[in-house]
Amino acid sequence: MSCGDHHEVDCSQILDRLYEYIDNELADADCGDIRTHLDECSPCLEKYGLEQHVKALVQRCCGCDDVPVDLRSKVLARIREVKTQVVTSDGASVVVEQVSVESVVVDGDRPGA
Ligand SMILES: [Zn+2]
Ligand SMILES: [Zn+2]
Repeated sequence: MSCGDHHEVDCSQILDRLYEYIDNELADADCGDIRTHLDECSPCLEKYGLEQHVKALVQRCCGCDDVPVDLRSKVLARIREVKTQVVTSDGASVVVEQVSVESVVVDGDRPGA
């Protein structure tokens, strides 16, 4: 995935490390790279906001720190559906006006399947 702009660090590399960044697992130098990138790249900034939101959401749902990858992608898919309602402000916080948390399937059941 790329926004089409040229950046010192490629978008895909940022997105690869975004989750670790949110979890504060990256070295300072890497954090700097990502922060710089987020400053100049709104698609990545938006993704960053979404990931932060997913983390908070999942923690609230199942109380666990480690977000299972499949659950994370389910939540992300759900959030993407309401993407137009996601407002990124300064990158540190995201206001989501309407996310239907209750329709996120946590236990692996497929609704209507
Ligand atoms: Zn980017
Ligand atoms: Zn960009």
